[in-house]
Amino acid sequence: MQYDLIIRNGLIVDGSGMARYRADVGIAAGRIATIGKIHDSAREVIDADGHVVSPGLIDAHTHMDAQVFWDPIGTCSCWHGVTSVVMGNCGFSLAPCAEKDKLLVMRNLERAEDIAPEAMEAGIKWSWETFAQYLDAVDRTPKGINYAAYMGHSALRTYVMGERAFTDEATPDDLTAMKREVRDAILAGAIGFTTSRTRNHQTPDGQPVASRLANWEEIRQLVGVMGELNAGVFEIAGEDTGLNPERIREYLDRLKALAVDTGAPVTFGIFANRKAPDYWRHYFKLADETAAAGGRMFVQMLAKTAGIVLSFESHLPFDRLPVWRDIRKLPLAEQEAALRNPEMRRKLVAAVNAEPREQTRAVGAEARMMGFKHVYLMDRTLPPFRTIDELAREQGKEPVEVIIDTALAKHLKQFYFQTIANDDLDTVLEMMRHPRAVPTFTDSGAHVSQLMDASMQSFVLSYWVRERKALTLEEAIRMLTFVPASHWGLTGRGLLREGWAADVAIFNPDTIIPQLPELAHDLPAGAPRLKQKSSGILATVVNGQVLMRNGEHTGALPGRLLRNRLAKG
Ligand SMILES: [Zn+2]
Repeated sequence: MQYDLIIRNGLIVDGSGMARYRADVGIAAGRIATIGKIHDSAREVIDADGHVVSPGLIDAHTHMDAQVFWDPIGTCSCWHGVTSVVMGNCGFSLAPCAEKDKLLVMRNLERAEDIAPEAMEAGIKWSWETFAQYLDAVDRTPKGINYAAYMGHSALRTYVMGERAFTDEATPDDLTAMKREVRDAILAGAIGFTTSRTRNHQTPDGQPVASRLANWEEIRQLVGVMGELNAGVFEIAGEDTGLNPERIREYLDRLKALAVDTGAPVTFGIFANRKAPDYWRHYFKLADETAAAGGRMFVQMLAKTAGIVLSFESHLPFDRLPVWRDIRKLPLAEQEAALRNPEMRRKLVAAVNAEPREQTRAVGAEARMMGFKHVYLMDRTLPPFRTIDELAREQGKEPVEVIIDTALAKHLKQFYFQTIANDDLDTVLEMMRHPRAVPTFTDSGAHVSQLMDASMQSFVLSYWVRERKALTLEEAIRMLTFVPASHWGLTGRGLLREGWAADVAIFNPDTIIPQLPELAHDLPAGAPRLKQKSSGILATVVNGQVLMRNGEHTGALPGRLLRNRLAKG
């Protein structure tokens, strides 16, 4: 047999959890043709000796809806072994929406997800109105990785209700129109429907995003459409229940009833909160209870500490303080000069020290004032990290001086990591091991100058598998491939099997590691964003073609739009 590509001599970790074995993988016409000892030749051969050959990794919680049009290879995810992503989470999608109303939809995305409107304006050629047309636009766009897309409630509401979407409850006519759009979207191949009810999702003028105006009956009816079609996943950025047990119970009961009554799989992301360390447990218990009651529910979690990446090049928690504000407006070199001026330095330090901690409320992933015991120096990418507090005590300085001095040592190109959740890694491990957990929730494509969690996959393989030995490779790969592929119905992907799509990751288990992030101004219209690559990944293959080799794009664009089972026929 003539193959397009043979991956020779790798250690096969096939995604099922089955023990590894050594074999060749022969690929033809975009699919895995043979796994075994292959004697035939191929147009292209990859020597995978010493490397793991696994299914391409899948990230089911991204916001690449806009980015796909200017960055078809799906950075930063594609640098971490990811070959398929799901986008449109948390109620945010770019359809349905006519071009004339695009500013309204961008308003939902701008602050909630930190995607610059100038980038969206410059980088997107709007060629759709309905969700089906959006899917066709993504389908036509040359792509490096595979994309599946949810329809978002904020876009849907805005489409049907216009400006009223930001202020009103839906009328019966609104609801009928919205249900029709959900149905059409699912029939066209949308992977599901998403909404947000969290305070963290605001527009730039501090108003709730459109989905937050919906009452629960609206949600029940829209999710019910998916239940009737028996297709589509419902994702929700959940309600801020606080810690009142009755309020928590009331919300959880509603979610459970939604899953059981509609039959649609319900999913959401959850973090471990340091102020309420056991809060997350409610949600995993709920998923078990829902299953027992006949519904489907799975819990997305981030398999690392969640936090905001800070730097002089992007954001610092002090940016709003008057003395700092003046300095921070300056070009980086002038900021550096100011920081080296002893008089100015004294003022800057005093301004930070005068500020009460943990008082200002930040929205979503915006930098916030808080104690320095939750801020790490990012001089490495795997724990243990050193906090700014520790370093300050050790060096006999004020914490903010440690930040200034470490930044000056790198011409201000030093990053810091301000943790916001999942601080305790043993808790993260416990969450990850829950049978209804899916490690994802990276928000890749969103919060582009604030968060850098798109490296979660290489973090899992380097930290949890190699450094901590808390998971076997087989377990970790299963969590990152077969589990999400199965929950989101990405049929024919997520396992290495003859006849299945040839999405493959080839990496060195001894060296794979996320690299330190950098700040780039490479968005359309020059908006800034964080970039983070990894080392140790020899290649990723998408639909049988080599997409990345040693972290560099080969130029191939073999990705596809992944439609749901109904649309595939
Ligand atoms: Zn999200």
